[in-house]
Amino acid sequence: MNVTGRCQCGQITYEATVDPEQVGICHCTDCRRLSGAPYRVRLPVPIEDFKLLSGSPKTYLKTGDSGARRMHAFCAECGSPVYACAPESPTSITLRVCCLDNPADLPPKKQIWCRSALPWAGLLDGLPSLDRQ
Ligand SMILES: [Zn+2]
Ligand SMILES: [Zn+2]
Repeated sequence: MNVTGRCQCGQITYEATVDPEQVGICHCTDCRRLSGAPYRVRLPVPIEDFKLLSGSPKTYLKTGDSGARRMHAFCAECGSPVYACAPESPTSITLRVCCLDNPADLPPKKQIWCRSALPWAGLLDGLPSLDRQ
């Protein structure tokens, strides 16, 4: 599937060819804090299938408890996350599905780090639901 995506302010735009079967939710605490959301929806793609069309993301190098390092790319203007990858010689990058233009077409196929999941993360169905604010 060919997709396009952008940051919220529009300075960074990109396109990619993705495999919808690879969409997953990550409940880890890093994803929560880096996204400000209860979980992150992620989609790894081979680096050759990703093309930055405009803008140049700022990067943040995160070192995990295991010592694993991960480069997080985001828009320096609006703060939207763009992708994450290995800091040296990446072979794949992980896109943020909700920054793509068609996230409704990319439902998650699995979830990881469930031991860190917020207890209410899957309990939205019973809430009062308004079409607008
Ligand atoms: Zn931006
Ligand atoms: Zn995560």
